[in-house]
Amino acid sequence: MTAPMVHAQGVRKHFGKLEVLKGIDLTVERGEVCCLLGPSGSGKSTFLRCINHLEKIDGGTLAVEGELVGYRRRGARLHELREKEIAAHRRDIGMVFQRFNLFPHLTAEQNIMEAPVRVSGANTADARADARRLLKQVGLADWAGHYPAQLSGGQQQRVAIARALAMKPKLMLFDEPTSALDPELVGDVLDVMRQLAADGMTMVVVTHEIGFAREVGDTAVFMDDGVVVEAGDPRQVLVDPEQERTRAFLSKVL
Ligand code: ADP
Ligand code: MG
Repeated sequence: MTAPMVHAQGVRKHFGKLEVLKGIDLTVERGEVCCLLGPSGSGKSTFLRCINHLEKIDGGTLAVEGELVGYRRRGARLHELREKEIAAHRRDIGMVFQRFNLFPHLTAEQNIMEAPVRVSGANTADARADARRLLKQVGLADWAGHYPAQLSGGQQQRVAIARALAMKPKLMLFDEPTSALDPELVGDVLDVMRQLAADGMTMVVVTHEIGFAREVGDTAVFMDDGVVVEAGDPRQVLVDPEQERTRAFLSKVL
């Protein structure tokens, strides 16, 4: 039996006195798309950041493909991971943020080639060929030589997705990838994500795009105030939720 891609059990996180995650249980199987919804401040970004080793959890267990995040088990003991081990784990996880964070002084193609060449030691010709293929995949075949400032927000976000894919991740995390975009640019980005899901990528997507979550999500997870209020089939959770808190949230975003 293979371990789930993401397995969280009772995950806790606090910043000083503020408890942000109060025992999160969540499982994402390989090839699944899990959509995470919830009001601002409910802990969605923090949870994604924990998966990607950007925050340390304070309690519970969190594992990616059966490997604990932050710790290594040796016998009965847990040892903190070393920087190098964390870096190796993080290489398998792609992350796309609300803000595109492209390198402004590099072209679209160079942005995508950067990590494979500098981090993985790929040769430039291979990395360039890969970047071209990825640009085509995100619908930007003709934009390789353009700088971020010459691209629309939606195009920049698609380059950011291509850049994450260049490291051949097993898991993609999206944190409100369309929230900063003008409405007319949202569709192209969601289309790229939809295709990625159809190709079998495992994805955790924080989004307020209810339509996307309903169509593409295998599971929808509604979080509020650091807990999972309700989780299950998006066509149930987002259409006919059981919990009043989920219902109230949906009536605000729809
Ligand atoms: P969401 O993504 O659901 O809007 P976040 O995970 O960003 O929620 O934040 C949850 C809570 O944690 C918020 O109250 C936020 O202010 C707080 N928070 C997040 N990161 C930090 C941090 N580094 N230091 C202190 N508080 C933080
Ligand atoms: Mg957030």
